Amino acid sequence: MRVISTKDIIAPIREAVIEANYELGEDVIRAFQSGLEQEESPVGKEILNRLIENARVAAEERIPMCQDTGIAVLFVELGQGVNIVGNDLNRALEEGVRQGYEEGFLRKSVCHPFTRKNTGDNTPVITHLALVPGEGLKIWVVPKGGGSENMSRLFMLPPSAGWAGIKERVVQTVEEAGPNPCPPTIVGVGIGGNFERSAILAKKSLLRPLGSPNPDPELAKMEQELLEEINKTGVGPQGLGGRVTSLGVHILMMPCHIASLPVAINIQCHASRHVKIEI
Ligand code: SF4
Repeated sequence: MRVISTKDIIAPIREAVIEANYELGEDVIRAFQSGLEQEESPVGKEILNRLIENARVAAEERIPMCQDTGIAVLFVELGQGVNIVGNDLNRALEEGVRQGYEEGFLRKSVCHPFTRKNTGDNTPVITHLALVPGEGLKIWVVPKGGGSENMSRLFMLPPSAGWAGIKERVVQTVEEAGPNPCPPTIVGVGIGGNFERSAILAKKSLLRPLGSPNPDPELAKMEQELLEEINKTGVGPQGLGGRVTSLGVHILMMPCHIASLPVAINIQCHASRHVKIEI
């Protein structure tokens, strides 16, 4: 059995929180560049150029790429052969996030739902923990902004709605969101499971690098179909019109109850931040 001390988890989380907010992934920058080739609107092109420039300045000057530095979402895969020693794991994860937001001068964006009093350190953290075989510990650090999260939706469709019903809801959700999730977006779609699982699938689908194919050829075809429909809406970069409303659609799917067809749509803004660490 492998032993991991919670002391050795805090620093990598801290660094990942900072890196995620300062450095946009190469996959997203490449998608901006290929978006430039597809975009016909001069304003849309200008926005894509500015997003590329914004990402460069943030990385070089070590500043956040967006004022909304997000609520910290962590996807954790913990090997069953790992013995965590020291503090409890959740406290270590929260301490890493706390230190990252403090030392990286990142805006604290978490508050009491009614009083709106800020918790002051960007905790609590939203953690999704999965036990997996092996002796590894993998953590994806995913700061998520409020604008795009607010435009995300979940539908419990009748099974008869099928693919046509799913497609209609996804395109409608993106169209109604308009400029609010700061397009160009990446659209995560979770199909199946149950109410809460579909939402987690939708968010988890966004961890796949942009531009990489879905390993399931049927889902890959559906993603392409959805992307084409979304980009016909004309929402465009920052909602100011154009062809490039979304840079990609990612689907994760699993079986569901015979009476249900859950569909969750998690919209990710252009500040698509995720950093993976392995301990
Ligand atoms: S939706 Fe994304 S890009 Fe827009 S303000 Fe929020 S974090 Fe920033």
